[in-house]
Amino acid sequence: MSLRQKLLLIFSLTITAVVAAVSWTVLVRIREVFNQQDQEKTALLVTQFQREFQHRSAEVASAVERLANSERTRSMATELVQTADAAPYLGEAQTLGTEAQLDFLEIIGPDGNIVSSAQWPARFGYPEPAVEGAGPQTFLKREELPEGTSALGVFAVRSIRGEPNVRIIGGKRLDQSFLGDLPTPASVEVYLYSSGDGGAQTSAQTPFDPKQLIGVGGPVAGALRYKPIIDAVRRTGQPSNSIVYLSDRREDSVSATVIPLKSETGQVMAVLVVAASRRPMVEAQKHIRAIAYGVAATGILLAIAISIWIAGRVSRPIEELARAAEEVAKGNWDTRVEVRSKDEVGTLARSFNHMTSELTGQREKLIQSERVAAWRELARRLAHELKNPLFPLQLTVENMVRARELPAAEFDEVFRESTQTMSMEIANLKTIIGRFSDFSRMPKPQLERINAADAITRVALLHFPWKGTAAEDCDVTSAGAQKIDCCMLIDPDPLPIDADPELLHRALSNLVLNAMDAMPDGGRLTLSAKSLGNSVELRVADTGAGMTPEERERLFTPYYTTKEHGTGLGLAIVQSVIADHGATISVESGPGGGTTFVILFPSAVLISETDPTN
Ligand code: ADP
Ligand code: MG
Repeated sequence: MSLRQKLLLIFSLTITAVVAAVSWTVLVRIREVFNQQDQEKTALLVTQFQREFQHRSAEVASAVERLANSERTRSMATELVQTADAAPYLGEAQTLGTEAQLDFLEIIGPDGNIVSSAQWPARFGYPEPAVEGAGPQTFLKREELPEGTSALGVFAVRSIRGEPNVRIIGGKRLDQSFLGDLPTPASVEVYLYSSGDGGAQTSAQTPFDPKQLIGVGGPVAGALRYKPIIDAVRRTGQPSNSIVYLSDRREDSVSATVIPLKSETGQVMAVLVVAASRRPMVEAQKHIRAIAYGVAATGILLAIAISIWIAGRVSRPIEELARAAEEVAKGNWDTRVEVRSKDEVGTLARSFNHMTSELTGQREKLIQSERVAAWRELARRLAHELKNPLFPLQLTVENMVRARELPAAEFDEVFRESTQTMSMEIANLKTIIGRFSDFSRMPKPQLERINAADAITRVALLHFPWKGTAAEDCDVTSAGAQKIDCCMLIDPDPLPIDADPELLHRALSNLVLNAMDAMPDGGRLTLSAKSLGNSVELRVADTGAGMTPEERERLFTPYYTTKEHGTGLGLAIVQSVIADHGATISVESGPGGGTTFVILFPSAVLISETDPTN
């Protein structure tokens, strides 16, 4: 992964994490606030309903109270007690009930039996058990109706003033219209659940009946969803609040509070359900979340864009430096980088430029001094070579000058000998000059794609013609005068290089000849070729005397030789050929340890033999 990618990744991840964390915190906090507000709102609603309910109950109580205190009921009660004749008052309850706007009204005589009933006129003469033990409070009661049904109501019992044994029991229905009268804000629904039993059993024992849950508009759709909380309140008698989901969607939910409506004996007669829709809240939350996501996404995109820009700005100069360093490593010494800033990166760029210019300068100096040394050596060797034939020439000329004094016959003899010697030495001089000009006229290599293994085999066959061409063959011994073994270690895979076959052959031959010269008492010559991936390595190794470090340094200098009849040009030619091929040559050697010449060729791309361009 590049520096730019790393920076980009780190920036982007950090910013994304921060944005995500902030968004998450905000959303969680908002949800908490909303929930809290929702709960507060519901609590407020519930107290409001409870107050309203008490208010309705108080209305019933005061209506019954008013009736009990009225003149009309008082005279009726006196009559009843005195005559014990209920017949004239049979329709009285209905009249009084309509006047007082009560749904239920019964007049109970001193014997505890019904004198008149507004809700069930035919029921006179029956006992009314509810009046026994009824206190001053209102109470809930399920009232039997003539149609065989029953209805739930809020009731109050009062004795008629002056006649405590005659009582009035009046009440109002708890039904749809009662719910409709309750002040409900928009998005709040009030339902009433009344269990169908007549109060004979505890309501918790009868199973939940969805039809019994009614709202202002009649039965409630999805009543079953309220079953768990209604069942719970019927069982425990405690009000509670929870969220009821009407569908799978979050907005279709209500915050439902259940309030038990209890009878005198503490039995849960009905359950009031206050259901506040959570839709506005959930929608507001969704809206906020959508905005938060939008802002977060924009933030992250923006952050990534800025990261790309910053990463580019930070990494570009470093990438340029890295590229420049690679260039220098490849040998482009005059590589420079642009100094763009005054910060550390700018300093680095300046230092780099300074370093490369220093390096170029030093290299220049080194090359110059090397060149001077090489020419000095060359001049020294040439002078030495030329001195050898010049000395006998001078002697011969002096000899001839002296011989002029001799008689003609003797002079002729000396003259003949001298001219012979002179032309011999002049021929020597010519040879020396010829070799010198030969060396200076080394031809440019004509490159061809060849297999390095073939080049090595060709050289081996030249000097060891009896040798097999097996790639890995180390046990064929040449039984020549010198007793030199030739051993070949060659990669079986093709080793393609671009080279001039003739020049390469000449160079390898020179190395093999030197190796053989180095082993006058016999030894082993090892020729090897192998691939090193980017390069092909050729080795010529001998087990000869080896060289001292000083000898190794002068090895490639023209005319350097330690042999009596050596030219000292062999290795100079080798080096010039190898350098012209863009390859390198090095030597590994120590005194007595044999010598190995290592040539490294840049490996070429293999072109198959069927390739039409080849
Ligand atoms: P020449 O063979 O004519 O002497 P070269 O340039 O081929 O000239 O070699 C220069 C000198 O390097 C040799 O004289 C010898 O001293 C030394 N030399 C070259 N090859 C080897 C070798 N394989 N082992 C030891 N010395 C070597
Ligand atoms: Mg030689």
